[in-house]
Amino acid sequence: MNYQQILETAAQEASLLAGSGTVASYIPELAKVPPERFGMALIALDGQVYATGDAGERFSIQSISKVFLLALAIRLVGEDLFERVGKEPSGNPFNSLVQLEYEHGIPRNPFINAGALVLTDVLLEHLPDAKSAVLDFARRLSGSPDLEYDAAVAASERATGFTNIALANFLKAHGNLRHPVEQVVDAYFHHCSLQMSCLELARAFLFLTNHGVLPNTGERLLSVSQTKRLSAILLTCGFYDEAGEFAFRVGLPGKSGVGGGIAAIMPGRWATAVWSPEINHYGNSVRGMKALELLTTWTGESIF
Ligand code: GLU
Repeated sequence: MNYQQILETAAQEASLLAGSGTVASYIPELAKVPPERFGMALIALDGQVYATGDAGERFSIQSISKVFLLALAIRLVGEDLFERVGKEPSGNPFNSLVQLEYEHGIPRNPFINAGALVLTDVLLEHLPDAKSAVLDFARRLSGSPDLEYDAAVAASERATGFTNIALANFLKAHGNLRHPVEQVVDAYFHHCSLQMSCLELARAFLFLTNHGVLPNTGERLLSVSQTKRLSAILLTCGFYDEAGEFAFRVGLPGKSGVGGGIAAIMPGRWATAVWSPEINHYGNSVRGMKALELLTTWTGESIF
């Protein structure tokens, strides 16, 4: 399979959609990112690396960090996690307060913001320093020891994150947050501000492709069953209120972020990541989704 050629042609075709989305601006620092950026990487389990465009440039991975939180939380508390957070698609915006209210403080899934706040609370309970633990985990998965949080993005989100703070207060009111709201949102905003490139993200997702085992060291991070469960949540909940559309067009488990990144896995074969900052109404990268759709169409590789 000529993945390199496929990535390059997919990038070209996706570029025709330039201007049809908007760079996220509700976190002011994100609005500064040049809209024309595009990068894509694919790393196969045999170690082959394919990349095009700005695949080596770091960007704000935002909600893609929720995958690292979920993997860590599953490692720490196993199935008990799902007593505090559900596993159904939300069918609502990712920061919905309404849903959290009528479901009595149990977030619908780990990838909406309320769910990730609960994951953060779990990490705070079981780890000495949740911020460092997530950073170290991402460094280990990606093989990049110099990954960092972006302090300006974290501060920008802290200054404008009233809805997330409201969600945390709701969770607290329902007894589903054990730490102070301020401590939980501070860690959460830092997790979202993690900067990674497409190449680093694709490598970081390889253990999910490999049924829970880090390919370079052979170390098992999740059991086969835990990996199945995490991947199922990626498929059904990984793309905000557009998970059905993503499964329909792309057919891979994955996760997107409002920074315009998407990471996705083809179990047993490869992991891929794409970045283009212009997002659609739901929060998913317009050109990123298109490029992934072309990748799975032209390779004939998807989970279906
Ligand atoms: N930090 C963002 C927020 O909480 C994450 C949004 C996202 O990427 O879905 O609003």
